[in-house]
Order: sequence, then C-alpha cells, then structure tokens
Amino acid sequence: MARQFFVGGNFKMNGSVDTIKKIIGNLNNAKLDPSTEVVIAPPALYLLLARSELRSGVEVAAQNVFDKPQGAFTGEISADQLKDSNITWALIGHSERRTILREDDAFVASKTKAALDGGIGVILCCGESLEQREAGKTIDVVTSQLAAVKAKVSDWSKIVIAYEPIWAIGTGKVATTEQAQEVHAAIRAWLKKEIGEKVAEDTRIIYGGSVSDKNCGDLSKQPDIDGFLVGGASLKPAFVDIINSRL
Ligand code: PEP
Repeated sequence: MARQFFVGGNFKMNGSVDTIKKIIGNLNNAKLDPSTEVVIAPPALYLLLARSELRSGVEVAAQNVFDKPQGAFTGEISADQLKDSNITWALIGHSERRTILREDDAFVASKTKAALDGGIGVILCCGESLEQREAGKTIDVVTSQLAAVKAKVSDWSKIVIAYEPIWAIGTGKVATTEQAQEVHAAIRAWLKKEIGEKVAEDTRIIYGGSVSDKNCGDLSKQPDIDGFLVGGASLKPAFVDIINSRL
C-alpha cells in the first residue's frame, strides 16, 4: 500500500492568539490535498486553541511530551494529558531540544515509548550536524538515534520519522534532493534490516530543513521522501503550497 504523504508544521516558540488564529483561518479556508495528512504543532499554550479553531481532518501535535504519565514534574505535559485534550501527535527529538535542552538519545527514546503507550503518534526527529556530515558520519548518527528508539519500542506503526539535517534547519540551506533521498533510503534500509520489511515499507520518512514552496516540488518526487516537517514556512500562507506539493 502506498504511504500517505504527511506534512507537519512546527511553529516552534512563535505566534500569539491572534497570529495563530490567522494561520489556522488560512488553513481552514484553503483547498488542501485530501490525500495528504496534515498536522500542526503550535506552542503548548495554544494547543487547545488550535484544536478548537482548526477544521476536522487536520491534526494537532505537541512540540514535546514527558516520559511519565503524571506527577511532580513542573512544566511538563504527559501523553495522557495530550490525549485528554484531543491532541493526537507529538514531536519528539527535535534537534533544538537535543542541542539546546541537552536531550539525549535515551531520553528521546523513553519519551517516544511514553507517547506511543499513551496513544499519541510520534514525529520522531533525527539528523546530523554539519561537522558530522563533513566527517562522513551522517548515516551512523541517524541510525544510532533510531537504534536508541528501537531498544525501547517495538510497534513502529504510529511513528513518522523526520530526517532533519541540523545544518539545514532555519538556515535557508536546504539539502539537495540527492542528499535527502540518500539518507531517507538509508533509513528505510536500516528499518528493513533492524525492524522488518513491512515496517520499512509502511513507515513515512519525511524531510525537514528549510522546506519552502520553492523547493518542495522536487523533494516530494523522491521515492523515499514521504512528506515534510516545516518550520518557518509553516507560519506563512506558503504552507498550503507545501501541503499541496504533490498536486
Ligand atoms: C523544523 O524546525 O523542524 C524545521 C525544519 O525548520 P525550518 O523549516 O525553519 O528549517
């Protein structure tokens, strides 16, 4: 079965009640490719607003989730709380959290397990730094990030893998179609070898890193690119063109 194209919008720490209502109004009024699955990830404070304003058929993701169900964890949000609020996805392992907030592979894996156990789909981010790419370590870095998840998770059916080279995030420096396809194919080969053929066939592997309405068309034609995780451009009207990049 063909993998459904998936486009996520990561608003990061951007937006206000006013601007998020405008972005959502734009999505609600747009003609979106019905064969694309669309998920937006506003800051935690605006998750409920987004869910109540957004049309049905477009899902909402948290930008983070903690690995415990409840308790004395000030500032954190659990998978149960997301589920209770009708938030069905979470971003986990974004490079900004891995680097700025020092989240390591084991913690990312533990949060992924907690989200899945709580019934939340996971957009699992992985990717290398420029230094690691230049040292020829891209595939090793990405597969070891995924191997940490494999150690804790057996069901991959609710995971979307987002390959996001750190050097391409927010820099305007998009990976070439060849660079992105090469890593996506390597991730799929890793899934086949380490988890199984069906998981490799079924898992969406999306690309993130300076995706825009200008570069999404070529990227979307690559055989192993099943969609995008979009940062900056998800705040703009051009997000609709990215969602519709396969039309
Ligand atoms: C991201 O934050 O996941 C991202 C890909 O950002 P940008 O599109 O702005 O590079």
